[in-house]
Formats: sequence, C-alpha cells, structure tokens
Amino acid sequence: MKHKQVQWSCINNCGACCRLSPEERCEALNVLSPNQLETYMEMVGDDGWCINYDKSTRSCRIYTDRPDFCRVSNLPGLFDIEESELNSFAIRCCQQQIKSIYGDTSQVYRRFQYRHKLSRKK
Ligand code: SF4
Ligand code: SF4
Repeated sequence: MKHKQVQWSCINNCGACCRLSPEERCEALNVLSPNQLETYMEMVGDDGWCINYDKSTRSCRIYTDRPDFCRVSNLPGLFDIEESELNSFAIRCCQQQIKSIYGDTSQVYRRFQYRHKLSRKK
C-alpha cells in the first residue's frame, strides 16, 4: 500500500529560516527579484538574523505582514518547481535550514522530523 505523504507544516519555536545572513543564504538570494532583494537586505540585522525576528519567542513580529518571499506558498514562484513538488520541496528546505542553524541532533530538528514522520537521521 502506498503511504500518503505527510503535509509540510511549520513548527513552533524554530525560526531557522529567519536567519538571513547573505553569505549563508546564497541559494535563496539568487532567486529574488531586485525589489525583493532590496527588502531582504534591509531586514538583515547586525547579527545575521532578521530584524523582525523575536529571538526570545523564536517568532516573527510581523507575521501577517511578512514579505512574500517568507511565505512557503510562494516558493513555486521563486524556485523552478511545480505546485505538486511544493510539499516535499518545503520539507527539504526546512530540514536543510534547521540542520545548518541548530544541527541534526538538535531538539528542533528532531521535532521537525517527528512532525513529518521522518527518520531523525535524514
Ligand atoms: S525553518 Fe521551516 S519549520 Fe523552521 S520556522 Fe522556518 S518554515 Fe518553520
Ligand atoms: S519577516 Fe518574519 S518570517 Fe520573514 S525572515 Fe523576518 S522574522 Fe522571519
């Protein structure tokens, strides 16, 4: 029997994708339009995290008004992927970003893997 793919979902207390340091996010920067890139660069704080990111709660202070490139639903418009690939692409992006920020033995990574019914070591 074929397993139904688990739907991507953001997890609480993560915020890994809010680390915007340009040298760490070349892949993302390469797909932004000039206007988006300008907005992105304005949001980079001195410590490499987004200026709208609340580190104490690991959440976005402007969540409902966050830029379009912060929204997972807009990934197909940025990267060369089909809507049907969005779910697995979003999961891979989160895994990659969480690993690079917190490591693959971190609680956050384990929670993400658990939520998506994935092996801890993937
Ligand atoms: S890296 Fe993924 S799970 Fe973590 S805050 Fe960003 S979208 Fe959510
Ligand atoms: S605007 Fe919000 S969601 Fe986007 S990077 Fe900044 S803190 Fe994260």
